[in-house]
Amino acid sequence: MDKQSIYDLTFDQLTDWIVDHGQQRFRAQQVWDWIYKKRVTQFLQMKNVNKECIHLLEKNFYIHSLEEEIKQESRDGTIKFLFKLADGNLIETVLMRFNYGLSVCVTTQVGCNIGCTFCASGLLTKSRDLSAGEIVEQIMKVQAHLDEQGKGERVSHIVVMGIGEPFDNFNNVMDFLYIVNDDQGLNIGARHITVSTSGLAHKIYDFADTGIQANLAISIHAPNNELRTKIMKINRAFPIEKLMEAIHYYLEQTNRRITYEYIMLKDVNDHQKEALQLAELLSDHRHLAYVNLIPYNAVDEHDHYKRSETKSIQAFHETLKQQGINNGVRWEQGADIDAACGQLRSKQIS
Ligand code: SF4
Repeated sequence: MDKQSIYDLTFDQLTDWIVDHGQQRFRAQQVWDWIYKKRVTQFLQMKNVNKECIHLLEKNFYIHSLEEEIKQESRDGTIKFLFKLADGNLIETVLMRFNYGLSVCVTTQVGCNIGCTFCASGLLTKSRDLSAGEIVEQIMKVQAHLDEQGKGERVSHIVVMGIGEPFDNFNNVMDFLYIVNDDQGLNIGARHITVSTSGLAHKIYDFADTGIQANLAISIHAPNNELRTKIMKINRAFPIEKLMEAIHYYLEQTNRRITYEYIMLKDVNDHQKEALQLAELLSDHRHLAYVNLIPYNAVDEHDHYKRSETKSIQAFHETLKQQGINNGVRWEQGADIDAACGQLRSKQIS
């Protein structure tokens, strides 16, 4: 029988498994504590767990599966990790330092099928989804790095914005959220977690229905279908009208603010007319909208796109502001390393 990652299991799943295998229920709490609080890397280190339970765990699970291939550290403290999965595939994880805490950006799929035309990751189509455990282990690896530094730092925020479309791997990503949010474990507050989708409208309904308090970000990138389809192929399947219907449902159910990601591409989507269109699109629920303007990080793979000039970004920002839309510019982290999403991985593969 193939072993499974222990990080795949939510606390309830672990409890059921332990009870189904003839062990007492409280063992689940002990095991959970060893994994997420003491962060052991071997079952044998779980000192207060009985031998029979350790043996069962060893027979059925493993703890460690990701290998660190590369670690690039930026002058601003951003660290980009390239991990090798058990099957040899490579994924990226990024640790970013902000004044409000330490945030980790996780990958959810090997490659991506969404086909955003500006993205280095989108060039390498999806070969598989990551398991919940593979996503959790990215956090554990980064936390292990922080533990090694001995400064008592902990991952406080998570953005599910790395390679892959999280809602195309919905169940595993939801399990991941339950695991990292568990208050007996890593205890990363749901309000400190943001899940970013390219706009899989049908899954936005599902996400609203889960009742999870995590934040939602939507990559909008253009305010009309013609332009959005050019930038993001996914817009053919989920055009803006469908997306806005799903957003309306989400807002009704949750009353939670949505962040709209808008990548600033020179002479493509950065004119005043697009700013006005975007403001109009969001006008009905502007009190629950925040637009993140993201200066494009040029990558060799997409030399037809350039970063918008600073004055265009500023003008776009001002126009939105005048129209009553909250917005800000998200300047890059880790500018001196392979900062663009997917860049480190695609360089290694090629
Ligand atoms: S930007 Fe995200 S959703 Fe779009 S192709 Fe890249 S990884 Fe996929």
